Amino acid sequence: MKRFFLGMAAKYGALRQTARHTFCHGRESDIKELKKYLGERYSGEAITCKNGRSGLALALRAFFKRGEKVLVNGFTCYAVYEGIQAAGLIPVFVDISQEDLNFDYQALEKAAKESQASGIIIQNSLGNPVDIERIESLAKKYHLTIIEDLAHSAGVKYGDGREAGTVGAAVAFSFGKDKSVDTVNGGAVVFREEMKRKVEMPHERARVSDTLRARFYPMLAGLCRGLTAIHLGGILMRLLVKIHWVEKSADNHLDTTRQISRFEARLALEQFRGFREAGERPIREFVLVREREKVLEMLKKAGYYFDSIWYKKPVAPERYYKKVHFNEAECPSSVYIAEHIINLPTYYSRGDLKRAREIIKPYIINEGKNGKVE
Ligand SMILES: *Cc1c(COP(=O)(O)O)cnc(C)c1O
Repeated sequence: MKRFFLGMAAKYGALRQTARHTFCHGRESDIKELKKYLGERYSGEAITCKNGRSGLALALRAFFKRGEKVLVNGFTCYAVYEGIQAAGLIPVFVDISQEDLNFDYQALEKAAKESQASGIIIQNSLGNPVDIERIESLAKKYHLTIIEDLAHSAGVKYGDGREAGTVGAAVAFSFGKDKSVDTVNGGAVVFREEMKRKVEMPHERARVSDTLRARFYPMLAGLCRGLTAIHLGGILMRLLVKIHWVEKSADNHLDTTRQISRFEARLALEQFRGFREAGERPIREFVLVREREKVLEMLKKAGYYFDSIWYKKPVAPERYYKKVHFNEAECPSSVYIAEHIINLPTYYSRGDLKRAREIIKPYIINEGKNGKVE
């Protein structure tokens, strides 16, 4: 029974949050208010949209011509690739560092010099800020337009004190599952500089089916996590995916014509306002481990639902990896990290994760900047 509740992460806070999500009522004015808030906070013109990848596509369309190249973190999710592709651009994946999962700056300089890219997408992986001054000077030297992707890092501060999202020509947000602002779906863009191209903006309402799925996801996911204790969680989750009650994050379609759901706009606004100060948001921890499959198996036995390790390939999930035509020889470190990383899910509290940390500890190869497995 204890494991059931551990799985459900049924602390008072988590239950309350799930109830708030499920029963939140949103109005058209919440979308307007969210836009206003983002526009002010990030000094630009804000629009909201269906998800992060659609937002990224809109940002890229506004600043680049089809066929141009953009430098991208060599460790990312398929959503980013989809956004780049929808804008007709060519991604140049750059190798990353084990410390913070951000660009390896030598590899970045080399790529900037050799690829003739016209832009760079900053990811601030898992909430670790990039060395922004270094990137800005590189961007200046090689004439790169900076786009910030804040899916992992809304509220985070760069080393020089500026907030993430206050540097690039445009800033894309994802409010998807496990992102720093999580309303299950939803996205936004803030255009901070004058757009170079005219872009058609989202004008259609969110689909009812998408809204319903987003609304019930936290409840269903909590139930599944709880049921892993009696080995039924995985089965139920697979069933829910099959009957389309739950959509895997990677399968969420890019659609730049659709709006965010109204209740998601309301929740996103609440979460943004809840950041008391920049950088306060919980950052997902990661560690690199030996024998990852074995460690995951042990975690499962201890009642943890840890399947969302996020990355098995440099561009996750694995089932879409082939489509990306990732050049592994250019990004050896990204490949290595993808094979050894474990992310500590944010749906458990620090206390809940104590046992998990003990299990992981003997297998650690490297703890990243934010991987503090005590
Ligand atoms: C998840 C993610 C996105 C966008 O995801 P959506 O599912 O389209 O909202 C963008 N960038 C990064 C780095 C992400 O991890």
